[in-house]
Amino acid sequence: MSGSESPGVARRAELARGYAAARERLDAAVTAAGRSRGDVELLVVTKFFPAVDVRHLIDLGVRTFGESREPEASRKIDEIRTGGADDAAVAAAEFDMIGSVQSKKAKSVARWARTVHSVDRAKVVDALSAGAEAALDAGTRSADLHILLQVSLDGDPQRGGVTVEDLPALAEHVRGAGGLALRGLMAIAPVEGAAEQWMARAQQIHTDFLVDHPDARELSAGMSGDLEEAVAHGSTCVRVGTAIMGRRPLVSQ
Ligand SMILES: *Cc1c(COP(=O)(O)O)cnc(C)c1O
Repeated sequence: MSGSESPGVARRAELARGYAAARERLDAAVTAAGRSRGDVELLVVTKFFPAVDVRHLIDLGVRTFGESREPEASRKIDEIRTGGADDAAVAAAEFDMIGSVQSKKAKSVARWARTVHSVDRAKVVDALSAGAEAALDAGTRSADLHILLQVSLDGDPQRGGVTVEDLPALAEHVRGAGGLALRGLMAIAPVEGAAEQWMARAQQIHTDFLVDHPDARELSAGMSGDLEEAVAHGSTCVRVGTAIMGRRPLVSQ
């Protein structure tokens, strides 16, 4: 950084480069897969990064963000929105919850989230439903909370995600719950093995799921390291953090 350049200007330039590079990668992947650009959303994952970074990204044209923890997310979103109440771009920004939700925090998540990507058990569905209905009644949200069911690709319950066997019952549970709209599935490729094969499996599970739930068209899959494989296998939303934001500050999760 030169003496005349403020840290804000340098960070904004860094984010602009990161975002442009990720956008280019995504566009290339979409083209290689014979799909069209509007088919795949680029969700910018801003967990652990400050509100000022999100503001820079909004200025750069980003409108969809992923957060993973409460109450960090609520605080950050309040900070982004206050002082910018008359700013249409800030008002248009939408935030998704991509991390696992604890039942006791579901109520606050239901106030700010467009979509929760990481739903994997009935208890959390019930808590989000109660929270969404309360927020709809209070006028703090205007649309149903979108739900993606996180499916386990390797069947290891330790790592989160509902197993393929338990997926149909959980989907029915969401459909019976007020204030929620079932929109699709989310998957994370385990680190061992080839991303290509995990993403092929995610796509197969989603294709089967669509038979019973034709409106559940979303497949949230792909991150900084495997977005190309995900887009080749039908992802409709890639969740990209590191490739845009840089390395996350070291904090215990
Ligand atoms: C942090 C996180 C991401 C972003 O991962 P990067 O490798 O930094 O792109 C995506 N999805 C989930 C569920 C995450 O928790």
